[in-house]
Amino acid sequence: MEHQRSSEEQGTVPERKRLIIASNNAGKIREFKEFLSPFGFEVVSMRDAGFDGDIVEDGDTFEENAHIKARAVWEATKTPTIADDSGLEIDFLDGAPGVYSARYAGEGASDRERCQKVLDEMHGVARELRDARFVCSIYFIYAEDDEYSVRGEVGGYIGEKPKGKNGFGYDPIFMLNDDESMATIGEEEKNKISHRANAFGQLSKILEEKFS
Ligand code: IMP
Repeated sequence: MEHQRSSEEQGTVPERKRLIIASNNAGKIREFKEFLSPFGFEVVSMRDAGFDGDIVEDGDTFEENAHIKARAVWEATKTPTIADDSGLEIDFLDGAPGVYSARYAGEGASDRERCQKVLDEMHGVARELRDARFVCSIYFIYAEDDEYSVRGEVGGYIGEKPKGKNGFGYDPIFMLNDDESMATIGEEEKNKISHRANAFGQLSKILEEKFS
């Protein structure tokens, strides 16, 4: 009888293993689903996995916050889990807004207000001191003592005023060069160069090695 290739030999996940994304953000789940589709996981949100606990993200770094989220969901479900945390770091502001990126201008503030707060804080600062980066940390727990942390970055600098209408968050004030901001390039281009794309790329390598 012909040898049946196991799913692991075929480079896919055994028996469509469940994988939880430690988030309930529909956009994020969609993005992860798309990214993970070649690997054959059944990707679910933490709510769909039955997790409804509160997670306090009180880490000092993106890595710590991603780890805290992945660990909380893993402990409750013992199911492979991926969590991410991302944001903007500005050298002149000693790394702020950093892990506070989402709430930098207070809870309930808009993207425009957050951008304006940064522009105000950077007002009059010389170009050489405006360097910044977007960071995305992803933490993956596959099993107890089988866990991975990756960090993707994209470098740029803070512009003097918003530019461009694409993207979200701090994209309009994040200059890639003298002409383009992260909000003037299209989504397709952003998805090739972004901190998230970079972190996904690193995670892909880990998953490919693990399942091939
Ligand atoms: P979180 O990783 O979903 O917690 O996102 C943190 C915050 O970082 C977001 O609310 C945005 O303000 C900012 N951020 C993360 N990624 C991006 C990006 O690609 N462009 C602009 N802002 C971002």
